[in-house]
Amino acid sequence: MTFKSLGLSNALLKAVEKKGYTTPSPIQEKAIPRILEGKDVLASAQTGTGKTAGFTLPLLQILSQGQQLRRRPIRALVLTPTRELAAQVYDNVMDYGKFLDLRAMVMFGGVNAKPQIRTLKNGVDILVATPGRLLDLYNQKALSLANIEILVMDEADRMLDMGFLRDIKRILALMPKKRQNLLFSATFSKEIKQLAGSILHQPVSVEA
Ligand code: AMP
Repeated sequence: MTFKSLGLSNALLKAVEKKGYTTPSPIQEKAIPRILEGKDVLASAQTGTGKTAGFTLPLLQILSQGQQLRRRPIRALVLTPTRELAAQVYDNVMDYGKFLDLRAMVMFGGVNAKPQIRTLKNGVDILVATPGRLLDLYNQKALSLANIEILVMDEADRMLDMGFLRDIKRILALMPKKRQNLLFSATFSKEIKQLAGSILHQPVSVEA
């Protein structure tokens, strides 16, 4: 199996090659084609499986092929439980998207919000965020989620463990109903299954 056979564009293949990857990992092999088809995906994957590229590569491809508006409303949201994970995902987005004309931003709490608000004003296609700061800035009217096409919940189990369920529900209510949803989790408790059931529309399940 090659990255090319998964249906990725040349700009992404070039970025993957630059990273030195030769073969897709099992989760990438299973998830990437389904995400590119536009399906909602429920993925069971631990850290270290290559899950981040598994959702980042197809997300970048879908956004780069879709219609781009000049004012660059946020079209993709990746929610993560911690700032460390948000920063990691953002680094991946920057690496894999280096040959595409898309803007990404990372947002988390515990730091000054002003630079984040400035960056938002300039237009952002992909937002990687932790739930608390996202809601803060939404309440300050610094961002809109009305144009979200793709939602990714990364490490959804940890988000619930950290008590983010209420924030997540609030965030979900701010997005258009018609969108593509990807939920990644290492474990599947009753609560996660319930959350997945409420977010995902006829999902395809994939395992690392
Ligand atoms: P993740 O599970 O997303 O945290 O990724 C774990 C590590 O695997 C990261 O350092 C990635 O850069 C690396 N990685 C992701 N996909 C591949 C691949 N197809 N081949 C080799 N390394 C990879």
